[in-house]
Amino acid sequence: MILRGRWIVPINSIPFEHGAVVVHEDRILDFGPAPEIELKYPAELVRDFSNAAIMPGFVNVHTHLELTVLRGYLEDLPFWDWIQKLTRTKYQILARDEIAASALLGAVEAIRAGITTVGDPMDLGGSLDAVLTSGLRGVLYQECFSPKPQEAKKTLVQLTHVVEGLERRIKDWPLGNPFLGLVSCPPKDWGRRCDRVRLGVSPHSPYTVSQPLFQGVKEFAEARRMPLCVHVAESAAESDLLEEGTGPIMQSYRARNIQWTPPYCSPVQYLERIGILQETVLLVHCVRATDSDFDVVKSRNASVAHCPKSNWKLGHGSMNLKAAHQKKIRLGLGSDSVASNNTMDFFEEMRFTAFNPSWQQEQTNAETQDRMKGLAAQDLLRIATLGGAEALGISENVGSIEIGKQADLIAVDLSKPHVQPVFSPTTALVYSAKASDVTMTMVGGEIVFDECGVRGVDEKALYQRTQAIREKMLDAPRQN
Ligand SMILES: [Zn+2]
Repeated sequence: MILRGRWIVPINSIPFEHGAVVVHEDRILDFGPAPEIELKYPAELVRDFSNAAIMPGFVNVHTHLELTVLRGYLEDLPFWDWIQKLTRTKYQILARDEIAASALLGAVEAIRAGITTVGDPMDLGGSLDAVLTSGLRGVLYQECFSPKPQEAKKTLVQLTHVVEGLERRIKDWPLGNPFLGLVSCPPKDWGRRCDRVRLGVSPHSPYTVSQPLFQGVKEFAEARRMPLCVHVAESAAESDLLEEGTGPIMQSYRARNIQWTPPYCSPVQYLERIGILQETVLLVHCVRATDSDFDVVKSRNASVAHCPKSNWKLGHGSMNLKAAHQKKIRLGLGSDSVASNNTMDFFEEMRFTAFNPSWQQEQTNAETQDRMKGLAAQDLLRIATLGGAEALGISENVGSIEIGKQADLIAVDLSKPHVQPVFSPTTALVYSAKASDVTMTMVGGEIVFDECGVRGVDEKALYQRTQAIREKMLDAPRQN
């Protein structure tokens, strides 16, 4: 198949006008000026996107698809109340099949927004079913929690059991698909979707995971060659717990009789001390990471998930992006869950990244006027695609339009009034476009979204299911 576009934006090379990309099976076979490509491959079917830019799909390195139905349910709460209400809702109100439907809603939203890969810490396996059903690519981290050191062994046994169950579900796919009522006409290459999933593990954070559990999970991941994902340096409450042994989390520990000796260092330094930082670790948030914390992250070649909208909305502030960028840390963008965003729109995420206040901080004399402006549009587009792929450790296969890479491609309509006129497709994509401008999403050579909707998902039935879940949440006993 040939995808012909008004612009081709390869990310790793210069964008050009009137181009085409050749897709063979799951990979990019060739790309270049449309007339040359069509002459070279006369037998290929051509799909025309004459108003659009064709670019690699976005790599959203941090989502929580399972929490999608919590969008709008936890508004304007202090962080500690927010996280407690979120936890109660997930475990006490929502059933497992509702969590799975919630994840499918998130996957549909992602695909419609041109996101082709998600990095998703999941708790109840819902994201796995959603990713396989929708056709997304995913690095899915099984979460584990337990701040009680004496529970580490038991939690590791449970983790092993859960991960083995997930591995079996991938192997047996599509047997056991929980979305029978929500799936319309499964596509022919349904089975190929298993190749797009990679499992990892996520010891949730320094305040929800004990030191022995952290170390056990690290060994578990190393033995299975799995990547790790950890939330770190997100809130003041977390810093207070680690740096001083004070604050609301400390109070909660005392109330639950949890032993805790503060390490009297920053959350990032703590992870370094207990041996967690390494190349296969994705550190999520790092809002409170200092310059020296980023030096440690760089020295271990760990990567960072930057979630600017979520961080700002939850009142945590903004990461020192300038420091992370200048130290050349592997960096991807994450929407985080829509319970704290509230949309999975990577165009917005890029703009928030552009407007990061760290660019306005004190400049040294050596810094040029260019540097003072922060990131250029092409840097932002790179972080949202190839940068994310690097952060997830999958950039050999995805993140840019290059011959031999997976055909994870999107078409973004640049003909609407809010984008016109277009002088540069790169700046139009970064500064003007929005998620609803995406008209086609392809993952691994398979079109998963176009004018017919999200392929294989009965979207109408899914939205009705969402309404039913909403009613249940409204009827649930009032929580404080
Ligand atoms: Zn998260």
